[in-house]
This record gives sequence, structure tokens and C-alpha cells, in this order.
Amino acid sequence: MIVIDGAAVVTLDRERRELTTGHVVVDGNRIVAVGPGPAPAYEGARVIDGGGCLVTPGFVNTHQHLYQWVTRGLATDATLFGWLTTLYPVWARIDEESVHVAAQGALAQLARTGCTTASDHHYVFPGGDLLEAEILAAREVGLRFHPARGSMDLSEKDGGLPPDSVVQDRDEILLATEAAIDRWHDPSPESMLQIVVAPCSPFSVTGELMWEAAELARRKGVRLHTHLAETTDEADWCDDKFGCTPSEYAAQLGWTGPDVWFAHGIHFDDAEIKRLGQTTTGVAHCPSSNARLGAGIARVADLRAAGCPVGLGVDGAASNEAGSLLEELRHALLFARARGGPQALGVRDVLEMATLDGARILGREHEIGSLEVGKLADLAVWRLDTLPHAGIPDPIAALILGTPPPLELLLVNGRPVVEHDTVITIDEPTLARQVTHTQHRLLATT
Ligand SMILES: [Zn+2]
Repeated sequence: MIVIDGAAVVTLDRERRELTTGHVVVDGNRIVAVGPGPAPAYEGARVIDGGGCLVTPGFVNTHQHLYQWVTRGLATDATLFGWLTTLYPVWARIDEESVHVAAQGALAQLARTGCTTASDHHYVFPGGDLLEAEILAAREVGLRFHPARGSMDLSEKDGGLPPDSVVQDRDEILLATEAAIDRWHDPSPESMLQIVVAPCSPFSVTGELMWEAAELARRKGVRLHTHLAETTDEADWCDDKFGCTPSEYAAQLGWTGPDVWFAHGIHFDDAEIKRLGQTTTGVAHCPSSNARLGAGIARVADLRAAGCPVGLGVDGAASNEAGSLLEELRHALLFARARGGPQALGVRDVLEMATLDGARILGREHEIGSLEVGKLADLAVWRLDTLPHAGIPDPIAALILGTPPPLELLLVNGRPVVEHDTVITIDEPTLARQVTHTQHRLLATT
């Protein structure tokens, strides 16, 4: 049993209670008490002094490419399509070992920045069991994990963007995806692992694959994810090839509904936003990556007002070297206001996007995303009493508008993963050396 006592608590429960001084009690993998004032005494419990700290629900990362952790810092001044064509040949050489090291690095950084549930989108399969490699990494780091089995079957020779070396045959993709669901997907309420079906993007997969992937996901009761409307290049490509926008193309292929979420969703017009809202199709907003690639700023306030669940994502570390989920909250807020004025998005809105809305996108809102009795014990304890934050009266504003604070404790399913700003489930210095070594190995044969 773990008792966090004397902390400010933002619950995100139905009443959106915020406790100036309160407690959270965890027994096993569940939250058993949340309330104001001091915690009752629990025999044999580990008591954590939460003075000067803020407890939040753990964050949910809704879009990422873990393997890119070992291909950071390349094509730093390119557009999306230029960046992709530089990186595809490097990615064609990834193997189980490099994916395992990359996933550990990226997941450890997510943990350090408040993430308790991570979704990944892996779509390059040159050989080896790369899905297994990242699933093992997630178990070792200790995060709740929703890996999306991605795919590409439309190469340059057929009018797509990726080279032949990184695409697969459609039947092979569908068989491997179904096998991954059968082997790994755990639909139970306490699940630490759920599989998602995720063809990569309109310009790297065929319409047939998009259609059949949707059919497979619905037959198996799992979720659907892809990149959509990220750049004007993609919109032009869809217009040339299909005479419609990316979201119209996706809708024609069955890709709308509460079981679907799109990464980025930047270039939607009013009618598209209305349709996405009516179908409660989700969007993973990735502000840092979008800015790094100069792709644009998603219409987050409009999407939310229309009824779309909008979660946050760090995206792959090759287009967001920081890989920090907390930073996405700050960037989401700043960019939304830069685009839409001071009322566009508030600190509590972005906190809700990172927690409850992310949980909703993954279909887990009844289990995670808020601090309530009976929910799974996924939470973060942030230290806000040191020089960078001391004196900011609203702890939520301090967390989101201030510099990233130390993470005193991160619990995932009741288990400590971060303590005193260090990931305790892996050895950080050793992993850092492995990441450097792996990047050198991948680039050496370029
Ligand atoms: Zn992405």
C-alpha cells in the first residue's frame, strides 16, 4: 500500500475536484482513497510526504514511433517528405536489438515526463520480431502499452513515397497483424497491453490495405490508427490521386468513428471538423513534431468544440528529439493561443487532453485518466517547491507554464517506475550508452 500525503491533487474526476492539500491511497494496482486533508493511518503502508508536490493522473501518449529514438538529429531542416526520404534507408536497417534499445530509451523518457500509458505506431518491418522487441521493452520499463501494428504496402514504384526496401505485401501485413492481436492483445479492464491496427499513412499504403485493416480491426474488436492531414504535400497528393481530401479518402475507406484516431489532423476544413466531431473520431495532437517539421498547427480548439477527443502525442523522436510528454502540454497551449488567441486553450484543457481524452481515444477512460477510487493506480507526483516553480499559486499553471519540474514519483498500475526524477526500472547511464552505440551502428552503413 502506498499513501501520498499532504500534496495538492488534481483529480479530473466527474466534479473536477482540485484539492489544495489532500491524499491519494493506492492498494495493489488500484486507487482506494482520494480526498482532502491528511490520509487516515494505514498499517504497514509506505507513506510519501507530498508537501510541495502536485499529484496528477498519469499522462497518456497517443502517438509515437519508439524505434526513432536511435535515429534522432537527422534531416533537421527538412520538410516531412524530405525528412522521410532521408530516413527511410536508415530505418530499413533496424533490427530487434536496435528497436529494443530505442523503445527502452523512448519509453524511459516518456516515464520521466509523466507518461503512464504509451501508444506506439511501428510501421517498418525489415526483419525479426520487432513488435515483440518493443513489447518486451515496455514490460521492462513498466509502462501500460498500446502498440499499433503499422504497415506500408505502397512503394515508389506504385506511386507511394517509401522505397521498396521498407514496404511489405498486403496479405503478409494482414496475417502478421491478426497474429499479433491473437498473441498479445489483452482486452481485460486491468490490461497492460492492447494491440492497435495502424497502416502508416495514405501516401504509403494502398486503399485496399486501409479497407481490409478496418475490417480486421472491427472483427477483432481493436482500435484503428493512422497518420492523416499532416501536411499540405499530403493534401496535394490525395487531391492529385483521388480528387478528395485526406479525411474524405479515409471516410470512404471506413475510417471514421469512436474506434479510430488520426495522428496530427492539421489540415482539416470546417466541414471535415464537423464530420469528425459527429463521428467522435479522435485526433492525436503532436505540437512539437508539427513545429519541428513546419507542418502547421492543428485546430485543436475547433476539433474539441466539435466533439472530437483530442489527445497529445510526442510523435517519433526523429521529429521531436525531446520526446517529452509534459512538454507537449505546454506546446499545445502556447501554439493554440498563438493561433487562436488567449481564450483558445487553458491549462486545465491541456491537462484533460493529456489524461482523460487520451484515455478515451484508447478506449480506457473507465480505467485510467483520472484519480478516482476504483481506477487503476497510474499517477504522477510533481515537485513544485523548488526555485523554478516556488511562488506560482496555481500548481497546474506551474506544471504546464513553468519549466518541467522534477518528477518525484510515477506509479504505473501501482508500481513505482520513476522515483526522485530517475527511472528505477532500468539503468539510465547504461541505456544512454547503448542508445549512442546503436545509433552509430545504424548510421555506420549508410
Ligand atoms: Zn508519426
